[in-house]
Amino acid sequence: MKKISIVLYLFLCMFLIGCTSSSIPVADNTDKPIEGNINEEKPDENNLPAIENNQIDYEKIKPNENGQVMILMYHGIGEEEAEWIRTPENFKKDLQTLYDNGYRVISLRDYIENKIDVEAGFTPVVITFDDGLLNQFNLLDSGDGMKIDPDCAVGLLENFSEKYPDFGKAASFFIYYPIPFRQKDLIKEKYEFLINHGYEIGNHGYNHENLGKINIEEVQKSLSKNVMKTKEILPDYEVQSLALPYGAAPKGEDYKYVVSGNYEGFSYDHKAVLLVGSNPAPSPNSIKFNPQRLPRVRGSEMLVAGTGLYDYIKYFEKNPHKKYISDGDTNTITIPESEIDNIDKDRLVNKKVITYHLQNDNKPDES
Ligand SMILES: [Zn+2]
Repeated sequence: MKKISIVLYLFLCMFLIGCTSSSIPVADNTDKPIEGNINEEKPDENNLPAIENNQIDYEKIKPNENGQVMILMYHGIGEEEAEWIRTPENFKKDLQTLYDNGYRVISLRDYIENKIDVEAGFTPVVITFDDGLLNQFNLLDSGDGMKIDPDCAVGLLENFSEKYPDFGKAASFFIYYPIPFRQKDLIKEKYEFLINHGYEIGNHGYNHENLGKINIEEVQKSLSKNVMKTKEILPDYEVQSLALPYGAAPKGEDYKYVVSGNYEGFSYDHKAVLLVGSNPAPSPNSIKFNPQRLPRVRGSEMLVAGTGLYDYIKYFEKNPHKKYISDGDTNTITIPESEIDNIDKDRLVNKKVITYHLQNDNKPDES
């Protein structure tokens, strides 16, 4: 059993490595391990045989849409690598490694709303940046209008996605005031660029207050003022998520004030609250999914204590059944049948659940 699963795993690796282009080869239909209601799938409008259309090779792909998703946490991008700073070269390496290992970027919003749209066999990943630093979004006066610094986070993301459009492009920037991204005359210009290019602007407190050390009135004031200020700059934009400064929050019952609250008649309601540490997040289909406490993985190799991006890439290489692997269809949730009790049926909306078991490996190796 073990041997077979290793062979299958190697096959999967070769398959993923071979898949640096945008499409997955048509599934080989010699393996038919499907159980459940796959055959009830409606034939496609083009009248192609259903098997060519909705069929994926379960043995090869092993879709698991109840697997874990990494939400990566970055801070600065800078010339010298440090605990909270990634060099441009290392950030590029991170993106390349993710790309080469079958990860595709999705927005935090799509993760929260359970609208993960990546091709069959690929794994979603979310990218976040805290603090709104200049090196995350720096505009340079080129003499010929403003240009994005190619070595700031936005420049690096833009360039990478131009080179690899199928990687996806999204990131959430958790900013605080008074001067997000540190160029005071360019705040609006940057905000507009971000929201028009697939990026998100999130709450990181009004002035990076430690929300675990102030009273609940001050917590609400800090979080409201951040949202109010962003609304002043972008009246139609809805701030949806919060990354806790220092990962700190009021204890016990009072935690609810980081989720929603109000100050001087202005209220906020975060759909997601992101923590600082230190492991992948559950699938949005999972009974373990809690958008009010989403863990993140550090996008770093320094002082990560075994919980950094590369540690989890390795972990998922060894334990592929633990990660989210897409079935390529946003209308269905495909899971190994062993996961059926671990999905939260209330979150599936109109999605259809497809379960399968593998002929040769019907019990994924637990570790
Ligand atoms: Zn911070």
